[in-house]
Amino acid sequence: MRCELCGREESRLQRIMIEGTEMMVCSSCVVYGKPVTVPKKGKPLSISPSKNKDYSKDIFEKMKKEIVPDYGTRIKKAREEHGFSRQELGALIGERTTAVAKMENHELRPSDEKAKKIEKVLGITLFQDVKQAILKKRDVTGLTIGDLLKKNE
Ligand SMILES: [Zn+2]
Repeated sequence: MRCELCGREESRLQRIMIEGTEMMVCSSCVVYGKPVTVPKKGKPLSISPSKNKDYSKDIFEKMKKEIVPDYGTRIKKAREEHGFSRQELGALIGERTTAVAKMENHELRPSDEKAKKIEKVLGITLFQDVKQAILKKRDVTGLTIGDLLKKNE
């Protein structure tokens, strides 16, 4: 066999990658490129690893916060601690008294915007990290991982 780089005759050539091109070279020419393993035996070292793993990692890192399931209990407790009536809290967050009552009874889930307002007014936390929520959402809407990433960007 002949070295594709210098043309020297050598019985055992090595496969290397030089600027994106695979070449069979002799032992003295291997220094000019990166060693490449034969595809059948394994992945070429020069090709960057699959990004699939990174994608799923991105999903989890970009998890959105969701309103806690016991938001009503938290709102009620904090409201009472502050000595607010439902009417007063409603006025502070721009909701009707009946809406506040429904929220406290878990009959009405506050919008993210409203929940943030309540957090501020009452000094409580109404959001939590929920990975399952994202995954569930994806199942329901049929969104691909790519769609999710776009949405979160
Ligand atoms: Zn050579």
